Amino acid sequence: MAEAPLEISLTISISNCAFRCHGCHSQYLQEDVGKPLLPDLQGIIERYKGLISCVCLMGEGRNPAE
Ligand code: SF4
Repeated sequence: MAEAPLEISLTISISNCAFRCHGCHSQYLQEDVGKPLLPDLQGIIERYKGLISCVCLMGEGRNPAE
């Protein structure tokens, strides 16, 4: 990954992107899809323990209530 060279990344996409980039590579991320990350984040990281060297949170999420 260009974002974290020399690392083995666990990449998590954050949805509800506030931008509307022309030619968006992941239009589904503009919707409020998926599930809340924080309740599961530690467990997800534990699951990949020993296999990854960093966690990348990708996206421009926003709070739908704002
Ligand atoms: S997901 Fe990325 S490319 Fe798509 S609208 Fe959001 S910031 Fe732009």
